[in-house]
Amino acid sequence: MRYLSTRGTAKPLGFEDVLIEGLARDGGLYVPESWPPLAASKIAGFAGRPYAEVAQEVMTPFAQGVEPQALARVIADAYATFRQPEVAPLTSLEALAPGLHLLELWHGPTLAFKDVAMQVLGGLFDHVLAKRGQKVTIIGATSGDTGSAAIEAIRGRDNADIFILHPHGRTSEVQRRQMTTVDAPNVFNVAVEGTFDDCQNLLKAMFNDAAFRDQVNMSGVNSINWARLMPQIVYYLTAAVQLGGPDRPVAFSVPTGNFGDIYAGYAAHKMGLPVERLVIASNQNDILTRVMRTGEHALGPVAQTLAPSMDIQISSNFERLLFDMLGRDGQAVAGLMDDLQQTERFEVPADALASASALFGAERVDEAQTLETMRSVHAATGMLMDPHTAIGVAAAQADRAANPSDAPMVVLGTAHPAKFPDAVERATGVRPPLPDHLADLYDRQEAYDVLPNDLAQVQAYVRGRATGTR
Ligand SMILES: *Cc1c(COP(=O)(O)O)cnc(C)c1O
Repeated sequence: MRYLSTRGTAKPLGFEDVLIEGLARDGGLYVPESWPPLAASKIAGFAGRPYAEVAQEVMTPFAQGVEPQALARVIADAYATFRQPEVAPLTSLEALAPGLHLLELWHGPTLAFKDVAMQVLGGLFDHVLAKRGQKVTIIGATSGDTGSAAIEAIRGRDNADIFILHPHGRTSEVQRRQMTTVDAPNVFNVAVEGTFDDCQNLLKAMFNDAAFRDQVNMSGVNSINWARLMPQIVYYLTAAVQLGGPDRPVAFSVPTGNFGDIYAGYAAHKMGLPVERLVIASNQNDILTRVMRTGEHALGPVAQTLAPSMDIQISSNFERLLFDMLGRDGQAVAGLMDDLQQTERFEVPADALASASALFGAERVDEAQTLETMRSVHAATGMLMDPHTAIGVAAAQADRAANPSDAPMVVLGTAHPAKFPDAVERATGVRPPLPDHLADLYDRQEAYDVLPNDLAQVQAYVRGRATGTR
């Protein structure tokens, strides 16, 4: 399996290179050259099997070069950190609406779905870097959850230092503390005076600075890294087979920010899983809802909402879908991305949009609806739900109202309610307690540095601290 850049110029790479490089040298994102097919009989056979075994089967064709025993060990270690042996348990929300289900993806160490992929990524990095005798500098940008999941996956590993940029004062306190209280010599937290998009732009600028990138052996763990998306394909399959798949199509509603999680659902569909619908659930930062409805991809200001992990305007992984929508024409994608760079907007051609609209729905959920959904879920089921997941529920219900169907609808539960206790308390009057392993989070010592939104200063900070420099 080789990987192509969405912008068509960088040369195709194998899995291990894509893992270490992250972003392609032409600014594009790597996508598999083709989708390895999963026969219906094979998918049906996933029912009742341990999560790690399904993960191994789904990832093997993508991860060529990684020895099977090494992959098995990485997967076993990754999911040993989870508090539930099923890894991604499915529960019913039918007390709220018929056919509605919840996929709980928050049982990992940092209480968000990102652990499901990040724990695998950390193990893969360790394995491949040790094999190559290399050391890398991982730089990431986070609106909250990526950072803690990445730090938790990389802390204490020998072959990588990790620098995480977060928007100063714009993450929840739990999110910040989960990053800044990790005491490991290879972990550096940077609070940037700006928004998440500013952090992401700094990250992209560092990736696009070839001299800097080579000097520090830079690598990335944001969902622009294909190896972040790959492990997320697995839970779409394990959820579907519990609801009658592959004989029966299943719909998914996905709280969406950077478009990584929902793109993994698209990948599962391309591999052969019958997916009835993929609903892009957005908060009031609704660029994806607008582009799916009108074809116009126009940047707006970023609003701070109850669901900070979705407070972004540039959904990086949308470029991967765009690549397919445009018939895998890298030049066409590069052209649209140039338009975006220069004019802050681009237009998706109507025929391309029509092909995607057959599968994708898109719903914007505002703050009042988010709180009301958290309240009604609690009233109907007794369950406390975080605001991101609640946006997924509200979007699922809106999409179902507009497109009635008998297919089961699975909402991806992306965070544990205790990660956003203020919002949960505001909606329900109940403050969710942190799980035991994080109970003393508020007593732990924090460490981070505040830097201006300035590329040169951030680069100097990294150069001064990275140990993998040449
Ligand atoms: C990261 C995150 C999202 C958005 O996922 P993307 O893959 O970026 O679309 C949604 N909810 C939570 C809780 C997250 O941490």
